[in-house]
Amino acid sequence: MTSKVLTEFLETGLGELKSKGLLNTIDVLSSANGPKIQVGGKELINLASNNYLGFATRPELIEAAKAATDKYGVGAGAVRTINGTLDIHIELEKQIAEFKGTEAAIAFQSAFNCNMGAISAVMKKGDAIISDELNHASIIDGCRLSGAKILRAKHQDMTDLERVAKEATESGAYNKIMYITDGVFSMDGDIAKLPEIAKIAEKYNLITYVDDAHGSGVTGNGAGTVAAFGLQDKIDFQMGCLSKAIGVVGGYVAGSKTLIDWLKSQARPFLFSTSLTPGAAAAAKEAFVLMHEHPEFNKTLIENGNYFKAELKKAGFDTGKSETPITPVILGDEEKTQEFSKRLIEEGVYVKPIVFPTVPLGRGRVRAMPTAAHTKEMLDDAVAIFTKVGKEIGLIN
Ligand SMILES: *Cc1c(COP(=O)(O)O)cnc(C)c1O
Repeated sequence: MTSKVLTEFLETGLGELKSKGLLNTIDVLSSANGPKIQVGGKELINLASNNYLGFATRPELIEAAKAATDKYGVGAGAVRTINGTLDIHIELEKQIAEFKGTEAAIAFQSAFNCNMGAISAVMKKGDAIISDELNHASIIDGCRLSGAKILRAKHQDMTDLERVAKEATESGAYNKIMYITDGVFSMDGDIAKLPEIAKIAEKYNLITYVDDAHGSGVTGNGAGTVAAFGLQDKIDFQMGCLSKAIGVVGGYVAGSKTLIDWLKSQARPFLFSTSLTPGAAAAAKEAFVLMHEHPEFNKTLIENGNYFKAELKKAGFDTGKSETPITPVILGDEEKTQEFSKRLIEEGVYVKPIVFPTVPLGRGRVRAMPTAAHTKEMLDDAVAIFTKVGKEIGLIN
């Protein structure tokens, strides 16, 4: 028997979501998540993935995963501290630290998990976290979990950050204060102003935490946003994803040995959730090797991003102020945005509408993510379809 209270709660909730247009529709892929995908028996140009370098389907990573699976099996068998630490987990962490230019690194099962665990391991009740208002959901949840006071700073507004930092410091109310930001903001593709942030952090003794989920493998010739500004010794937490440009699954923090030692004994997802599968750890490690040996993956990604943005702009679209391959096509109106993406999918381009509450009301957009795996022909085809549909619904002339 199911609980009547629960059923009522769920049915009312689902009804409300539906009436607000917030109910998720989830498409199922019957192919690998590559530059072209199969959805509902149809082949589409895929501009919706975070698979920036095309690594999710790279033969070198697949081979590494197969070899590790043959040697270690499909599961790690336990949490890291009990007996789930395999030598490949340590090798992966060494590889990450080397790539990020830090003393050490710690890997988690996902970047979401990583933010939950790493923020709350360091920040406590009696502390404060200054958070950019557009930070990712996992940062927001990690901050909440920590019990620290959360102070919002206006998006990328350094005057506001300085004001909040000054007030928090002068109040004397907090044991320690952290500033946390996305390295690359995933909705607009803008890059955190790290040189100014580092200066403010130094002035007010802030701990600094950069979530570079969309920066690693992308900005700074692939080394990420912190490295792009040469600030490896100014940022305490260089956090990143193994699931986006790296193409696998997982998250990590790179930082000082002291920080990583602390996280290995205090971050709860590390202590209480089974470690990355051997295949995932080995594939992720191989991704760092590949990025290091073949800078052309990153070069192609950046070229494809710049080309695609320029072509859409030429066609008359508003692509916002992205500084990365993330290509928002801003329509504004929510219904128009839904209609636009529906028609694009019908015509052969897979993108998702992003509307309120993910972005502010009246800032609806579709977000296109060209990758290193897209050919110029695919991008040209996509631009032609964007143009056709854009004219059809009166977005461009
Ligand atoms: C995607 C993303 C995450 C979560 O990454 P997963 O590895 O998929 O859990 C965390 N932070 C930011 C900024 C992200 O964009």
